[in-house]
Amino acid sequence: MKIWKKYSRYLMSGEWHIHTNYTDGTSLVSDYCKRAEELGIPLIAFTEHVRKDLQYDFNAFIEDIEIARELHDLIILSGCEAKVLPDGTLDVDDSIIRKVDYPIFAFHSFPEEVDTYLHVLYTVLKNPILNTWAHPGIFLKKSGLNISEEELSRIFTMIKDNEILIEVNRKYNAPPDEWINLAKKIHLNFVRGSDCHHIEDMR
Ligand SMILES: [Zn+2]
Ligand SMILES: [Zn+2]
Repeated sequence: MKIWKKYSRYLMSGEWHIHTNYTDGTSLVSDYCKRAEELGIPLIAFTEHVRKDLQYDFNAFIEDIEIARELHDLIILSGCEAKVLPDGTLDVDDSIIRKVDYPIFAFHSFPEEVDTYLHVLYTVLKNPILNTWAHPGIFLKKSGLNISEEELSRIFTMIKDNEILIEVNRKYNAPPDEWINLAKKIHLNFVRGSDCHHIEDMR
């Protein structure tokens, strides 16, 4: 079962997208936990960037989370934000994506071709381990690419079938309004992910 289903009542009151000093964030796991408690945020998910060849100690990151769970009255999830690769795989080692509670996926650097994008997206959406599409639609917007409404409906149907969440990402103002409207129409589930890189990003 995908972990979000267990905590579905916190999808919009939790903070489900956080980076720490292990990658490009500037706050510690413990800083975020203190801040979440102060703000009364019931659940936080650490969705650290990963790569197949990791440049930091992932076990130490997991240990920090385990320690924080002992100290704070919060639901604290481990997670990772895996980058989609042009061959339809994810830039993360299998042992890591299987270890975390809340794996999510995102398009970052990627070939600016609609056909490749769609092909890869359909492959990724079939991956049963993934919980959430992070900052959806942003890659298309940045690349100036468009997809038809019919194509978007097809994508969203697949998202519904595979119980993937649509992230509402304030940092990138994603997804676009048309996407939100269509997603609401077919009753997709949304999740708050602010892409926090510092405790001040958590509100
Ligand atoms: Zn991202
Ligand atoms: Zn992120």
